[in-house]
Amino acid sequence: MDLELSEEQVAVRRLAKEFVDREIVPHAAEWDRVESVDRSVVRSLGDLGFLGLTIPEEYGGCGGDHLAYCLVTEELGRGDSAVRGILSVSLGLVAKSIAAWGSEEQKNHWLPRLCSGEAIGCFGLTEPGTGSDAAHLATRARRDGDDWVIDGTKMFITNGTWADVVLLFARTGPEPGHQGVTAFLVPTDTPGLTRREIHGKLGLRGQATAELVLDGVRVPDGCRIAPEGKGFSVAMSALAKGRMSVAAGCVGIAQAALDAAVAYAGEREQFGKTIAHHQLVQELISDIAVDVDAARLLTWRVADHIDRGLPFATESSVAKLYASEAAVRAANNALQVFGGYGYIDEYPVGKLLRDARVMTLYEGTSQIHKLLVGRSLTGVSAF
Ligand code: FAD
Repeated sequence: MDLELSEEQVAVRRLAKEFVDREIVPHAAEWDRVESVDRSVVRSLGDLGFLGLTIPEEYGGCGGDHLAYCLVTEELGRGDSAVRGILSVSLGLVAKSIAAWGSEEQKNHWLPRLCSGEAIGCFGLTEPGTGSDAAHLATRARRDGDDWVIDGTKMFITNGTWADVVLLFARTGPEPGHQGVTAFLVPTDTPGLTRREIHGKLGLRGQATAELVLDGVRVPDGCRIAPEGKGFSVAMSALAKGRMSVAAGCVGIAQAALDAAVAYAGEREQFGKTIAHHQLVQELISDIAVDVDAARLLTWRVADHIDRGLPFATESSVAKLYASEAAVRAANNALQVFGGYGYIDEYPVGKLLRDARVMTLYEGTSQIHKLLVGRSLTGVSAF
C-alpha cells in the first residue's frame, strides 16, 4: 500500500480540517450540552461535497475514493463525533446502499438530495428485541396488491428524527433468519410512521437518536430496494463499509485526545516543572500516540482494499474493533493526563471519552467483531 496521499487527498483533508476547526470545534461542547447539533451543519457538509464524497458525479456526488472519505471522517470525528455520525449514516450507510443496490429511479430521486444535504438518511436495522442478532428482526412487511404494509419498531436509529428517508429492513418471507428480510426506502413522512427521540445518552448527545414505530405504513413496491429476500445482504454490505467510517471517526477521537494531552502536559506544572517532564505522563501520551497510528493504518488498509476492489470485510472488522477500543483507551489516557480537570466539562477530554464509549457497541459490538474475525480465521461460526 502506498502511504503517500495524493494531491486530491491532501486537499480534501485540508478542507475538512479547516472546516472542523472553524465550524465544529468551537461549538461541540455547547451542542453536547443542549443535546443538538446545529442543523445548518448538514447543509455545510453538503456544500463542501462531503455528504456525496464517494457517490458518482452523475448522481450529485464527488466520485471520490474511500481513503479521502476516511480522511474527512477522521477530521469530523476529531471535531465532534455527533457530526461525524450524521455523515457516516446518511452517506456511508444510506446513500452508498442506494448507489449500490437502488434502481435508476431511486438513485435519481434520493442521491442528489442526500449529497447536497437537502435530505438526510437513517438506517433502520436494530429493534428492541434484536441488536447483535439482527437477522432475527421482527418488523414485518406484507404484500397488499402493488403495495407493502409495514408494522414494527426500530430502536437506536441515528438521525432518526431528522431523517427524510429510512433504509428499513423488514421480514417479508416465512424463512427464518436473514433469508426472509427485504430492504425498503421509506420516506419518513409516510402516514403511520412515528418517531421518538431518545434522550439521556452517555455520549453523542448532539446527535438525534430515535425510536421509530411503524403502524400500518403503506409504501408502493417501488420503495423496495434490491430483490425480495435480499435485504440482509444490503444491510451487511452497508455495514462492512460503514465500519471503516466508524473506525476513521475513532482515529479522529484518539487524535483529538493526543492533541489535548500533549498541549496540557506542556502547560501544567507540578513538582516544579511541566508534567511533560514526568516519565509516567510521557508513557500515557506515547500509549495514545501508538493507538492513533495503529488505528489509522488499519483503517487506511480497509480504504485501500475497497478502492482496489480487494476483499475487505474482515479487515473492516479488525479496524473497527481495534480503533473503537483504542479511542476509549486514548480518551481515558488523555483524561488521566488532565487529572481532576479532565473530569469537568470545561475541558474536552471527558466528552471524548463519553463519545468514544458507544463506538465499541454500535455497528457490531467488540464481541461480535471478535466472532467475525474468529469465524474468518477458523471457518467455524461461534455465534
Ligand atoms: P445486544 O445484542 O443485546 O448485546 C448485549 C451484550 O451481549 C453485548 O455485550 C454483546 O456484545 C453481547 N453479545 C450478544 N450476542 C453475543 C454473542 N453471540 N457472543 C458474545 N457476546 C454477545 N442501529 C441501527 O440499526 N441503526 C442506527 O443508526 C443505530 N445507531 C445507534 C446509535 C447509538 C447511540 C446506539 C447506542 C446504538 C445504535 N444502533 C443503531 C444499535 C446498535 O447497533 C446496537 O445497540 C448494537 O448492535 C448492539 O445491540 P444491542 O444494544 O441490542 O445489544
